[in-house]
Amino acid sequence: MECIFCKIVKGEIPSKKVLENDKFLAFYDINPVAPIHVLIIPKEHTEKFSDTPNEIFNEMAEFIKNVAKELNITDYRLITNNGKAAGQEVFHLHIHMVANPDGKLKWPKLV
Ligand code: 5GP
Ligand code: ZN
Repeated sequence: MECIFCKIVKGEIPSKKVLENDKFLAFYDINPVAPIHVLIIPKEHTEKFSDTPNEIFNEMAEFIKNVAKELNITDYRLITNNGKAAGQEVFHLHIHMVANPDGKLKWPKLV
């Protein structure tokens, strides 16, 4: 069975898109933990950060900066949960971009 984010890339599952190019897609998280919560993914399936080729992150970093511009934010937090024990639930690489333009993000206690 194909992964849920691959289905979002194909449009088989709807998503609220923020930005897209031929290699990457940014869309709003369905269950936001902050006023802005966007997921940024490569269109090509890769499971997680640690098994993704380094080469992809150069272009992905550029794309992430463009997502921030699109959202009109300068301050944000990037998170990737790498593996089940780190909280990863969807095994298609994604970077969470979270922001609170009117305030401050907490730094939560994680354990
Ligand atoms: P993880 O825990 O793997 O780092 O994060 C997975 C994220 O994907 C969660 O924040 C969850 O809310 C989000 N998510 C799961 N399914 C969907 C979906 O079908 N659509 C959208 N937009 N987000 C999803
Ligand atoms: Zn996938």
